[in-house]
Amino acid sequence: MNFDIVIIGGGPAGLTAGIYAVRAGYKVAIVEKQFAGGQIANTESVDNYPALFGISGVDLAMKMLEHTEKLGVTMIYDSVVGTKLSCKEKIVSTQNNGNLIAKAVIICAGATPRKLGVPNEDKFVGRGVSYCAVCDGAFYKNKKVVVVGGGNTAVSDCLYLTKFASEVHLVHRRDKLRASKSDSDKLVNSGVIIHYNNVISNINGEDKISGVTLQNTLDNSLTDINIDGIFVAVGQIPSSNDIAQEVERDEYGYFVADENTCTNIQGVFVAGDVRRKKVRQVITACSDGAIAAELANEYITNLE
Ligand code: NAP
Repeated sequence: MNFDIVIIGGGPAGLTAGIYAVRAGYKVAIVEKQFAGGQIANTESVDNYPALFGISGVDLAMKMLEHTEKLGVTMIYDSVVGTKLSCKEKIVSTQNNGNLIAKAVIICAGATPRKLGVPNEDKFVGRGVSYCAVCDGAFYKNKKVVVVGGGNTAVSDCLYLTKFASEVHLVHRRDKLRASKSDSDKLVNSGVIIHYNNVISNINGEDKISGVTLQNTLDNSLTDINIDGIFVAVGQIPSSNDIAQEVERDEYGYFVADENTCTNIQGVFVAGDVRRKKVRQVITACSDGAIAAELANEYITNLE
């Protein structure tokens, strides 16, 4: 199938790039391997997207998708299995829809949750270990849970889980949260029990989780706490492994692009969480998407 612009990933960056690209008159496809919206589809409430205070992540994702489809972007739900991007004619190979040919490609593949890497984590995934509080929180009604991490995700997960769980612990490896002050302040009076300077050294239990062992990072002392579930919120890993090997990436795997989303390959742009940058928010992903589509427009115009 031939398109002018192929966008890899249907999160906020990809959907926005789609909107801008199709409005510039191009034939556009977005390839999305799971569901539109990316990580926001797993977010309970988005309080910092202008004009839509308190909208649920799923609703925001669906509104973006509806907008994109209404304008005529082709959504292809499939996995990208390879790319050839260095030539003028760029190829995005998919598992079930063959090769998509494009003049320009915008990579908006996002990121996935990082694992803790502690004993028994893999054994209990889906049976007590979760990477998505919004998805699994309701299973912990009147149960005890622990959240790991010190960023905005960990804090918002804690607050969300207080709606269900009888006890919520937050374990953070340092003595200071990384989360924004406004989010951190919400923990005060929330009832969340915070364990600073601690990491989880073991997940305990045979058939189901019975608790975790905390290791103090200052004196190495160990403490067992009884909990039923663990919510891991220790950041993300960019989804860059299987695609666009020609595109430069940093030591963490984020694609390197300039402020105009241009990469080292002509006609290839990177937008959203998979790009090396400091601030990863829905609005900055959307901003990237708009810029990438405009730069793709400029690139294609200069080709013709
Ligand atoms: P993050 O800001 O990168 O925070 C990850 C946290 O996990 C850090 O506190 C880090 O500790 C800790 N950590 C990393 N590896 C660890 C390990 N192996 N063991 C224990 N702890 C570990 O990630 P995030 O909270 O997912 O947020 C990602 C981005 O999304 C941020 O830019 C954030 O602001 C944004 N976000 C925004 C909202 C919102 O605006 N509503 C909500 C969620 C996320 P250190 O602090 O010691 O590094």
